[in-house]
Amino acid sequence: MAAEKIAVNRETFDNVILPVYAPAQFVPVKGKGSRVWDQQGKEYIDFSGGIAVTALGHCHPALVETLKSQGETLWHTSNVFTNEPALRLATKLIAATFAERVFFANSGSEANETAFKLARYYACKKHSPFKSKIIAFHHGFHGRTLFTVSVGGQPKYSDGFGPKPADIVHVPFNDLAAVKAVIDDHTCAIVVEPIQGEGGVMPATPEFMQGLRALCDEHQALLVLDEVQSGMGRSGKLFAYEHYGITPDILTTAKALGGGFPVSAMLTTHEIAAVMAPGAHGSTYGGNPLACAIAETAVDIINTPEVLNGVAERHQQFVAALSAIGKQYDIFSEVRGKGLLIGAVLKPQHASKARDILHAAAQQGVMILTAGADVMRFAPSLVIEPTDIEEGMARLARAIEQVLAA
Ligand SMILES: *Cc1c(COP(=O)(O)O)cnc(C)c1O
Repeated sequence: MAAEKIAVNRETFDNVILPVYAPAQFVPVKGKGSRVWDQQGKEYIDFSGGIAVTALGHCHPALVETLKSQGETLWHTSNVFTNEPALRLATKLIAATFAERVFFANSGSEANETAFKLARYYACKKHSPFKSKIIAFHHGFHGRTLFTVSVGGQPKYSDGFGPKPADIVHVPFNDLAAVKAVIDDHTCAIVVEPIQGEGGVMPATPEFMQGLRALCDEHQALLVLDEVQSGMGRSGKLFAYEHYGITPDILTTAKALGGGFPVSAMLTTHEIAAVMAPGAHGSTYGGNPLACAIAETAVDIINTPEVLNGVAERHQQFVAALSAIGKQYDIFSEVRGKGLLIGAVLKPQHASKARDILHAAAQQGVMILTAGADVMRFAPSLVIEPTDIEEGMARLARAIEQVLAA
């Protein structure tokens, strides 16, 4: 067969894929739980979780079973027809959260694009077309569409793609005074990650989140929480806003929602949703039966005391191990984060070594992530075995020793 003649190694990547990624030298071919194997059969412990996606590990039996059974039943019908898995999943997300209405999409970017459009649309219909200002934060990350890179707080992701959508203001994260200085009655929304992920694993403080809620209420603006990375159990609660004693007006979730199958959702209230009408927004694949059936199984498993309490226990184990490594090699200035979204910040004298540590870790057999220039990020399966954490940390320590010796 012709397909067998196609080279599928890392070198092929440079010849066939748009050069927007710099993938690792090894090519994973198989995964089970928190272990992954490459083309040479070498085994890795996965602390990266597909960037906070494979929250139940690789090939979780219940997800595989749902994939197979729904795959033999009905994959896609479009939104010209509704479907049973979408209705079940929406009902469960509503029962578990502040929300009363759900919109399904396929990626974090698409859910956020929907959220930002809805915030503008709601302000336009309820107040005035001039109430369009969006307040967002430095180092925030909301996706890769033109609107979402523009709301994101890292100009390197939006520069060169202009003209950019207008009336978006960025201020420092966790700085309530800075928000107060720019918010006004023309503000339609504040957009924030409760835990900045890509920006360096930085949790919002309770005062900040509660202050944002109060400022939104004062100015009739919507509080939009991007929980694409922090949601679905990652923080130890189903959604991170539950840590803060506030409720958002709009929330987006993606990454772990399908445990590795692409699906996302935007949650909101009935009152806000009611400004929309048929034709105002849509998505061909959004809410398709295959994606929603898998996400329903993921929600059923993640939204249980066993899994959520297990996240808190594993957090302790991660933080203890990383603190010990930090101490032994005098390499981390801080270990921060919530649940199983953890950042280990490199000391200034080691700040340039993040990529080297990532590569050395892969050589030693542990997959990790970075977040920003100087933060090592960990976003493993929420059900990773404690013995896998132990072994992965031993491999990470060897990798750090190797980098420091070089
Ligand atoms: C990953 C991420 C996105 C973008 O999600 P995609 O599925 O890549 O479009 C948006 N917001 C946050 C907080 C993310 O971590």
